[in-house]
Amino acid sequence: MTPKHSGGLSKETVAVHSGGGSEKGGVINAVEPSSAFRFIDEGPQPYPRYFNTPNQQIVIDQLCKLESAEAGLVFSSGMAAISTVFRGLLTTGDHVVLQKALYGGTRSFVLNEFDSMGVTYSIANCDAESLAAAVQPNTRVVYAETPANPKMEVVDLQELATRLSGKSVLTIVDSTFASPVNQNPIELGIDLVIHSGTKYLGGHSDLSFGAALGNREHIEQVYEKAILYGGNLNALSLYLIERSLKTLFVRVEKQNENALEIAKFLNGQEFVSSVFYPGLECHPGHEIASKQMRGFGGMLSFRLVDSICAKMFLQNLKLIIPAMSLGGVDTSVTLPALTSHRHVPLAEREAAGIDGQLVRMSVGIESVEDLIADLVLAFDT
Ligand SMILES: *Cc1c(COP(=O)(O)O)cnc(C)c1O
Repeated sequence: MTPKHSGGLSKETVAVHSGGGSEKGGVINAVEPSSAFRFIDEGPQPYPRYFNTPNQQIVIDQLCKLESAEAGLVFSSGMAAISTVFRGLLTTGDHVVLQKALYGGTRSFVLNEFDSMGVTYSIANCDAESLAAAVQPNTRVVYAETPANPKMEVVDLQELATRLSGKSVLTIVDSTFASPVNQNPIELGIDLVIHSGTKYLGGHSDLSFGAALGNREHIEQVYEKAILYGGNLNALSLYLIERSLKTLFVRVEKQNENALEIAKFLNGQEFVSSVFYPGLECHPGHEIASKQMRGFGGMLSFRLVDSICAKMFLQNLKLIIPAMSLGGVDTSVTLPALTSHRHVPLAEREAAGIDGQLVRMSVGIESVEDLIADLVLAFDT
């Protein structure tokens, strides 16, 4: 567990208060859609693709405080953040260690782009020891994702940082599933944190953005590429992010509670053969998650006894929405084998236990009784 504090104020407070309000006295910050700014003095002028307009600055500052980061950049998607980070921090001859369970887009980037960048890579199991053991003399980055999609594998971040200390290796963690409410990798010794804000930070399934947060030196390296690739956001989206962040803690805390109840419920069901949720004692990552996370998150997955049963189950849900994305206030389910992992070769997928029987659920903020009733109904039918 790490303290929820950031320079005096608790992170819950920081999530609500940011920017100081508008010049005319409004308690909410002004939306400044200008892409051109009057030339006032020397020095860098605000410009959207320079990531320095007033609305960008407000959100960046706020996310930095939430993740205890020195500096950061907010991008137009999670993949814009991930790809720009890789482009910014890697050069020809570098080697990267990545964990096996990886977000599909990240996996595709590695498979399609690393070669032309002159970057080599190794894939390791999802634990600190395996990730550290795969480091080579030319390894520049160790990249982890925790909890990971779709079986919620957990990597001990403090142990990873300790094992790599003294080596010139950068640690990067995609912390999307945890959100800053449940986990702060930088406080555990990790160099850079990535979020797909499209998920929990946005939280309403109506925004696309991403963030990369870390120390100034690394973020400046990423920035050099960011201004070339131009994955910046507009003021209206940034305003909506600011609005979303105000309720981040209440949303995610409710999602934590609901997910734990649902995981416990599923664990005893006739048609369910296993449940993957770090909050359950039977989950292999439970002990590490209890140590490094404040809550276990709103994501879980479970295996149904057969794949026909899984398809029927999805069709018979009335309230819970079959949808690919995650992290929204409404509960959704997906079959990773048909959606997020469909591009993963069959043999690799099956070895990882990602088949037609595996259902992934993103738990929302509805009444948990209603959600469980919907599950009961779908099982009964
Ligand atoms: C969705 C997601 C991404 C990519 O984010 P986009 O906003 O879709 O580009 C990266 N990592 C994880 C873990 C995700 O769930």
